[in-house]
Amino acid sequence: MNESPALEATALGKRYGSNWALRDCTLTVPAGSVTALVGPNGAGKTTLLQLAVGLIEPASGAISVFGHDPRAEPLAVLPRVGFVAQDHPLPRRFTIGETLRLGRKLNPSWDDAVAQRRVDELGLSRRQRVGTLSGGEQAQVALTLALAKRPQLLLLDEPVASLDPLARREFLSGVLRAVTETGMTVVLSSHIVADLERVCDRLVILANGHTQLVGPIEQLLAEHRLLTGPRTDAAAVARVHQVIRESHTERQTTLLVRANGHVYDACWEVHEVDLEEIVLAYLGTTSAAARVEAPAAVAR
Ligand code: ATP
Repeated sequence: MNESPALEATALGKRYGSNWALRDCTLTVPAGSVTALVGPNGAGKTTLLQLAVGLIEPASGAISVFGHDPRAEPLAVLPRVGFVAQDHPLPRRFTIGETLRLGRKLNPSWDDAVAQRRVDELGLSRRQRVGTLSGGEQAQVALTLALAKRPQLLLLDEPVASLDPLARREFLSGVLRAVTETGMTVVLSSHIVADLERVCDRLVILANGHTQLVGPIEQLLAEHRLLTGPRTDAAAVARVHQVIRESHTERQTTLLVRANGHVYDACWEVHEVDLEEIVLAYLGTTSAAARVEAPAAVAR
């Protein structure tokens, strides 16, 4: 059992020229959790995952994997991490069989039974060249390589973006099964929130390089509420609750709030919200108030 979190970032930043790809990012990914990393294009998701495996160096702050700095102590980090990059690069001229043999040679912890079972279940021929596989099949082979390494932390960068709904479901089922069998920690970036709700137990929302929201999904669903009522400004509500998004028509006001306890004011109708509404509300706001403050406000 690991004492340290699987992944921890503290005021982490990465800059390209004058552009901050990631800034003041503070979050904890507890060991054994399955975390959804959500954000629009350019939010910093890939940057965070690349920092986690030491592919790039932070400009500020710190990141650790199971308590180790990925750049300073790669041997303490890389053998424990499986990484499926966004474009899941594979040797296109290799057959699946050759690709698996390469995986076995490169990874001391390689579990051939896992690789063979997955290839059989996927119905793939070991003789087929990787470059001739469909996008979904290539994603599955990339996942097979990562899983056969028996990682303690699996990082998946938008692995299902290009897959059809059935292929997405099959891919995520493969991830879930591995989680159930091994208890591994997973961080999965995606735009497709409906998929994430089925698979993940924690959520991180990134936008403009900043962490907007971090926490267990169940808790976030319990805390957020949609309030509808006669048109008013949000000031009275904002004194008690955190207003994430407000919209108004001539007669009605709608607020999405992170409620600080119960909403008692009888002028509001209180509705539950789903994960997609929460994500969209945070992505729609540029309010600094909606950002996670580091580090005390980070939900654990
Ligand atoms: P997407 O959903 O489109 O994959 P993302 O959330 O993964 O986006 P990143 O790829 O982390 O976003 O990019 C964050 C920001 O950093 C973007 O503004 C991007 O243009 C910039 N960026 C990323 N890599 C580089 C690089 N090598 N050189 C310059 N800028 C970069």
